[in-house]
Amino acid sequence: MSTAVRVRFAPSPTGALHVGGLRTALYNYLYAKKMGGTFILRIEDTDQNRFVDTAEDYIKESLEWIGITPDESPWNDKGSVGPYRQSERKAMYKEYAQQLVEAGHAYYAFDTSEELDAMRERLKAARVDNPQYNAITRMQMKNSLTLSAEELKSKMDAGEPYVIRLKVPRKDEVRLNDLVRGWVMVHSSQIDDKILMKSDGMPTYHLANVVDDHLMGITHVIRGEEWLPSAPLHVLLYQFFGWEDTMPQFAHLPLLLKPDGNGKLSKRDADKHGFPIFPLQWKDPASGEDVAGFREDGYLPDALTNFLAFLGWNPGTEQEIFSKEEL
Ligand code: GLU
Repeated sequence: MSTAVRVRFAPSPTGALHVGGLRTALYNYLYAKKMGGTFILRIEDTDQNRFVDTAEDYIKESLEWIGITPDESPWNDKGSVGPYRQSERKAMYKEYAQQLVEAGHAYYAFDTSEELDAMRERLKAARVDNPQYNAITRMQMKNSLTLSAEELKSKMDAGEPYVIRLKVPRKDEVRLNDLVRGWVMVHSSQIDDKILMKSDGMPTYHLANVVDDHLMGITHVIRGEEWLPSAPLHVLLYQFFGWEDTMPQFAHLPLLLKPDGNGKLSKRDADKHGFPIFPLQWKDPASGEDVAGFREDGYLPDALTNFLAFLGWNPGTEQEIFSKEEL
């Protein structure tokens, strides 16, 4: 049985979208168009510390300028249509986290930051190079696996802050078949008990991302390679929720590097290389300064699309200029 393709571009509104993000959006969009599928825009705004309030409009305007339009526009809390916004789905993630706790795949943890630091120090002193909150260390910490029922109840009644952590199994092999990288295998002892729900009641990226990809019927997760290390954790979440049969296929795209090849292109590189890296001019909220954009520098949107499509791809012919339809 073939399922209609559904893909998403899921940026976090933490600043301007740079060409790397735009390229990810383009790959998703082109794949949806080629397959007669659906392209969704989802704003992943659950990290309140890194939230920048002008970023969402900037992302939408950039996509509009380059001609990438979402195929689904739900009504949202702002009384307008589209995009999907995770902050508006907050209550739902909590229920899913709760479901994992009830099934024994997640637990409440009450450790303070001092206690967590002390745990890391102890592990470092014992020459553990990558101190983690995991199957071994969790047993020495303050959580619903180690506290008695009364202790737990009294903490809950007193309203003590807690997070919900994933209970990663001690000895399992987690595998995924990435469409770009092939088989990726990780031993579960390498994955720590990641936080799923923060003490402020917000989900973390991992929980919200997996729950949404499932509920939105995403068939292919096409995103930057920086997320490959998180993919095994996401596979575990699909298994624990019992959603393995509809788990999306993953395609992690190689990253755009700085012109000298030295590390990945980042927002901090804007203006440093003599060409813009942002689609539109961006007013940096921290410095109040305007940073150049392709649009204001006189580039046409189709020229930028063509440039992005040719980064890391070649049609194998002499043709160098492609319209969106041809791509
Ligand atoms: N919100 C993540 C980001 O900002 C999305 C990663 C993903 O596509 O899963 O890049």
